[in-house]
Amino acid sequence: MDPHETERDTMIREQLERRGLENPRVLAAMRAVPRHLFVKSSLQEHAYDDRPLTIGFYQTISQPYVVALMCDLLELKETDEVLEIGTGSGYAAAVLSKLCASVVTIERIPELAEKARETLAQADCSNVTVHCGDGTLGLPKDSPFDAILVSAAAPSVPESYKQQLSIGGRLVIPAGQSRSVQSLYRVRKKSDTEFSTEDLGGVAFVPLIGEEGWRDV
Ligand code: SAH
Repeated sequence: MDPHETERDTMIREQLERRGLENPRVLAAMRAVPRHLFVKSSLQEHAYDDRPLTIGFYQTISQPYVVALMCDLLELKETDEVLEIGTGSGYAAAVLSKLCASVVTIERIPELAEKARETLAQADCSNVTVHCGDGTLGLPKDSPFDAILVSAAAPSVPESYKQQLSIGGRLVIPAGQSRSVQSLYRVRKKSDTEFSTEDLGGVAFVPLIGEEGWRDV
């Protein structure tokens, strides 16, 4: 048996199910994506550890539980079109790609965007498109999106993302004025002008840098 399959089964049992994550579609997606492909060769033995890992350029691949939790909160359907901001390694985009029809993801660091493209192709994630640029303004030309996942922390929830949701659409985003710890928010678009926002508690993400994010690195 593929040793990574055993590692993924253990990750699902001990990191996800033990923390109360039960969504069968999300658990299946986490089981299907080979996380080790998205991790540097020098960190292979830690690929399935219960923590984020460095991917270079002062950025990280998120902890498995955080990716699974955010995917669960997005309440994805097979027909959904999803936008992700902060591609990083491409891992979260790969998990999302198993849960919806298509994923568009934006990364501001060109080297990471290029590497993520290669890894996503290697992992057979053909319904993911990687763009390079400032994702704080979203992607108006491809909107609306049924779900938007922001994988980096904003000082506050950018208006552009709310505007680019379809009616009934969900946005999951870490936000807050502290650079070290933030709250995870889920915003639902009820109509063109009505939104509901839930605060789901403390998280720690790398900063979202750009026009509607933090202005400096
Ligand atoms: N989802 C990633 C997590 C990467 S960490 C994974 O699974 O590996 C967050 C990423 O957001 C970093 O790669 C960082 O460069 C990127 N980022 C920060 N600000 C951004 C912006 N304005 N637009 C696009 N990407 C941004």
